[in-house]
Amino acid sequence: MQKIKTVKGTKDLFGEAILNHNYIIDEFVKNCKEMSFSQISTPILEHTEVFTSSLGLSSDIVSKEMYSFIDQGDDNLVLRPEGTAAIARALITNSLEHEKNKVFYHGPMFRRERPQSGRLRQFHQVGVEYFGPHSFLSDLEIIILAEKFLKDLGIRESLILEVNSLGNSRSRESYNESLIKFLKKNKDDLSEISKQRFSKNPLRILDSKDRKDIEIMKSSPDIKDYLDKESGLFLEKFINGLDELNIQYKLNRFLVRGLDYYNHTAFEYITHESKSQNTVLAGGRYDGLVKTLGGSDLTGVGWAAGIERIGMMLQGIQYKQSDLKQICIFTMNDELNLEALKIVKNVELKRFLKLHFIKTGNLKKKLAKANKISSVGCLILGEDEWKKNKIIWKNLLNGNQELVDLDNIFNFFNNQNVFK
Ligand code: ATP
Ligand code: MG
Repeated sequence: MQKIKTVKGTKDLFGEAILNHNYIIDEFVKNCKEMSFSQISTPILEHTEVFTSSLGLSSDIVSKEMYSFIDQGDDNLVLRPEGTAAIARALITNSLEHEKNKVFYHGPMFRRERPQSGRLRQFHQVGVEYFGPHSFLSDLEIIILAEKFLKDLGIRESLILEVNSLGNSRSRESYNESLIKFLKKNKDDLSEISKQRFSKNPLRILDSKDRKDIEIMKSSPDIKDYLDKESGLFLEKFINGLDELNIQYKLNRFLVRGLDYYNHTAFEYITHESKSQNTVLAGGRYDGLVKTLGGSDLTGVGWAAGIERIGMMLQGIQYKQSDLKQICIFTMNDELNLEALKIVKNVELKRFLKLHFIKTGNLKKKLAKANKISSVGCLILGEDEWKKNKIIWKNLLNGNQELVDLDNIFNFFNNQNVFK
């Protein structure tokens, strides 16, 4: 019989991969807390309208990537494809709009894309959102957070920060008009996908990965020339802030975000490789989002990063292994197995040890197993020792052996010298 498989584009996480995954989350959480962001977790299931009403019907996500379905109660539901709209929804639902304005999240997202390296159907994101006053300082704060996070992971140097401004909606409308005029003239030469985007989402043609499109778009109008006073000033202050903070970046006028709710600042951390999965962390400002979803007129800015894409960059880089020392416990005589389990139940390991109970095999096999899983030592219960309320401690690092009082095991382990 053929082995049962995972759903296409999804992966089981175990071994190195989950250590890598958890390490990324740990570094992320640490940095978020250090900058006073607090955690939020929203359900994976949402009403479809949370995304259809905010992301834009012509966005890739809504038009073709969402896992949506009608459930048995006729509710139109979706496996969340991204975090921002869901979090805006959560602020409104729980009347937190003026209370929780700096939040972070991590968890799985779902998009029905063509699976390839760095592109999955269930992938995982870490992300932050900063709701509140319309200030370029918030944009800078979340970029500082991204800088610290990527630096701690040791990958900041391998990434380029690209920034752009999409302006406010007024600026974008006038830019769109002129862009459409330009595209009309060149329509026949555009790639198939850009031809489709022409009527629905012309802005997206700016970041087409097609070589011919790229050539054509080089002579397209520049959004900077269409920014009104407010939008121009916002960009200027933001860029000046990056300079003052000594943050390396590159302006890229072709950088746009795929979702309707973005305006003003857009940014991405990308790898040097020119493949289509080279964006590791992406974000921007979304001033109208909360209002669109029925909440107050709250502005916001945020970013999200793909854990799998970061993970690919960490391969070969040493990341922290679990620092719990492995020890084992086993008996010389099967009759004592329940006595050994009593010790497992009662012993306090205080988060620096992990204990594995080996139940089968002769003494030699049990010792071999303890060595195989890299134990630093083992507790061995024999009939004679048990009668005296004692147990053997065998240090596998130096081979030494001693008798320990059963009532005193924790104090014994608390003395770190026993692991040398
Ligand atoms: P792309 O252009 O690669 O499709 P996107 O603009 O759709 O990216 P965002 O919605 O901005 O991506 O998501 C933020 C980050 O989440 C991306 O930069 C990437 O690291 C990660 N990401 C997005 N889609 C996937 C996916 N299908 N598989 C793995 N990671 C993903
Ligand atoms: Mg995408």
